[in-house]
Amino acid sequence: MDNKKKTIILTLLIITALLVALVCYLKKDKKILKNPNLLSGQYRVEFPTQADTRFQEAVKGKEWEKVFKSDAINTRYTKMPWTGRVRDRGVSHQALFSVGKARVVYHFNRLEEKGLNFSVFNPQGSSLSYRISIEDNKRKKVLFNKFFEGLNFHNDRVDFNPVFKEGVRLVFETRGEGVGAWINPRFTRVKKNPRVYVMLVLDTMRLDHTSLYGYERHTTPELEKLARQGMVYLNAYSTSSWTLPAHVSLFSGKDPLGHRVSEPEDRIPGDYSLLAEIFQNQGFVTAAFTGGGFVDGQYGFHRGFQVYSNLPGRVFHLNSAEMVLNHFKNYAQRFWGEDLFVFLHTYQVHAPYKCPPGLVRHFNKDLGVNLKGPGNFIRDKKTGIFKDIGEENRKTLVDLYDTSIYYTDKSLIGGMVRFLKDKGVYESSMITVLSDHGEEFYDHGSWEHGHTLYNELVRIPLVMKYPDNQKTGKENALASITDIAGLILDAGGFHKEALDFPVNLDDPKRVLPLLFPKSPTIINIPPKISFVDREHHFIYNMMDPAKIASFDPQPTSLEVFELYRHSDVAETQNLAKKEAGVMKRFRELLKKYRELLKKLEGQKGKIDKALEKELKSLGYLNN
Ligand SMILES: [Zn+2]
Repeated sequence: MDNKKKTIILTLLIITALLVALVCYLKKDKKILKNPNLLSGQYRVEFPTQADTRFQEAVKGKEWEKVFKSDAINTRYTKMPWTGRVRDRGVSHQALFSVGKARVVYHFNRLEEKGLNFSVFNPQGSSLSYRISIEDNKRKKVLFNKFFEGLNFHNDRVDFNPVFKEGVRLVFETRGEGVGAWINPRFTRVKKNPRVYVMLVLDTMRLDHTSLYGYERHTTPELEKLARQGMVYLNAYSTSSWTLPAHVSLFSGKDPLGHRVSEPEDRIPGDYSLLAEIFQNQGFVTAAFTGGGFVDGQYGFHRGFQVYSNLPGRVFHLNSAEMVLNHFKNYAQRFWGEDLFVFLHTYQVHAPYKCPPGLVRHFNKDLGVNLKGPGNFIRDKKTGIFKDIGEENRKTLVDLYDTSIYYTDKSLIGGMVRFLKDKGVYESSMITVLSDHGEEFYDHGSWEHGHTLYNELVRIPLVMKYPDNQKTGKENALASITDIAGLILDAGGFHKEALDFPVNLDDPKRVLPLLFPKSPTIINIPPKISFVDREHHFIYNMMDPAKIASFDPQPTSLEVFELYRHSDVAETQNLAKKEAGVMKRFRELLKKYRELLKKLEGQKGKIDKALEKELKSLGYLNN
C-alpha cells in the first residue's frame, strides 16, 4: 500500500471516528431531554468536603428512609449519586439530597422546556436556602430562591421564557446548615392527550363474588360496564393466596420462584426490573396510592414510583376505596396533562369487611349487630381458623363482604371511570382492574386467606380496558397475574421493554406454579405447592402432624395430595388417588420444582447467572 492510500484510509478513519463521537454526543444530549424526570438524567455534583460524613451524621436517627446511597435496591432508578427517598407523613418521594453549601448542575445544549415542577423537603434541624437558577452563555436567571427553617414540605413550579441555548446550565443549590432534599424535579410537559395507564387492585376480591363472573348478587355493575369495552380474562390465576408474593408477581411479571419473595421477611431483590421503573424511564409521572401492609413501599414496591403512599387504602378505614381515589385526584391536579402511570390499591374488601354505615345493609336489610368481620367470631386467629362458626354467622360475613365489594366497585372503579371521562381521556386510557387473591368462607374448612390454595383464593378477576379499545371480548386461555405487566407494556407500544415481562397466554401446555411456603400470619399452616394446567388443579400439602396438632379445632381432613378437575369449580372431588397418570406427571414436576426451591434457599437477595439460566430453561423464571 502506498503512502497516498494510507493517508486516505487514515483520514477516512479519523472522519468516521469524529462522526461517531458527534452522534454519540448529540444522542447523549437528546437522551437527557427524552425524559423530563431530572432524577433520571445526568448531572454533576459539587458538594462540600466530607459531605458523606456530614450527611450521615445529620440524618442519624431521623425518620428518613434508610435508603441513602448504600442501598443499591432502592436507588436503582438512577445510577447517580445522592439519590434516595424521603418519607413525609406516610408518603414516600424520590429525592435528590443536598447538604450545606452544595450544587447540582445539569448541562444541556439547548433547552426548549417551558417549566419545572418540583418540591423541597427541609427536615427538622435544617436551616437552608434553596435556589434554582438557569444560565447560558448570554444570560442568567434565578427561578426560585427560598429559605426554610425546620420541617417543611413545599410544592412549587417555575416557568422559563425564552428558550435557552448553547451551553445551558440548570443549577440546584443549597446554602446554610443541615441537610435537605429536592423532590422529583421534572420539566412540565402538559399535553392535550396525555397517555394514562391506571392499575386498580381490589385486594381480596374473590372472583365468584363478582356479578361480572356470574355471582347472583349484583356486586360489580361498574366492572361490568368497563368489561364491555375491554377484555375479560376468564381463567386468570394469582401466584399465591396472599398479598406480598402476588403483588411482586404483578409488578415483576415473574412467579414466586422467579421473583424470590414468598415469605414476610423477603424483600424485592434489585436484579430485575419492575413495571413502574419502565414507565418512569419512558418519562411518565409514576404514582401509587395504596393501603400499605404487604404492599408497603419498603418491600421494594416503590422502585420506579416518584410518589408512593401507604396511607389511604388501609384496612381499618370505613371508606378506603374513596380515600384512595381522592388522594390520587389531589395529586393529579399538580401533574394532570403529563403521561401518567398510576397504581391504586385498597383493602376495602379485606377483613374486617368495613364500609360506610349508610351502605352496610345494602344486600341484607335485616343484618344483625355482629358487624365486625371474622375476627369477631374467631377469637384466636392463630389457632382457631378451622372453627366452624355456623351457617348464620357465615352468611353475615358474606353479606358484609359482598357489600364492601359493591361499595368499592361503585366508588373506586366507577369514580375512576368518571374522572377519566370528565378529563376526556377515558377512550385512550388503559385501565386494568384485578384482585391479588380471593377469600375463603369455610369453603374448605377455614377462613380469610393466606392458608390454602383453592380456587376461591387463587382464581382472580381480571379486566383490562386497552387504549382506544384495541382489544375487547373474553379470553379463555390460562392467564396469570404475571402476564399483566407484559400485556400493559405491549399495549403501550413498549415492545422492547416488554421482553423482560413475557406473556404466555398462547402456550397450550402452560402450567402455572402457585407457591405457599409460609403463611404471613399463622406459622403452623402446612406449606404448599400447587400447579394449574388447562384441565387440572394439583395441590401438595407439606404435612407436619405436630404442627397440625396446635390448631383448635384441628382440620377435619387434609390430604397430602389433592387433584381437582376445573369442571369441579367448588373443588370437592379429590381425584388424587384415582387419576394415576395425571398424578405421575404432576409429581415429576413437583420433584423438579422442589429441587429448584432448595437451590434458591439462602439466595433470596440474588441468584447467580448459572441458576438463572437453569430456571429459565425449565420455564420457571418469567413464566
Ligand atoms: Zn391481598
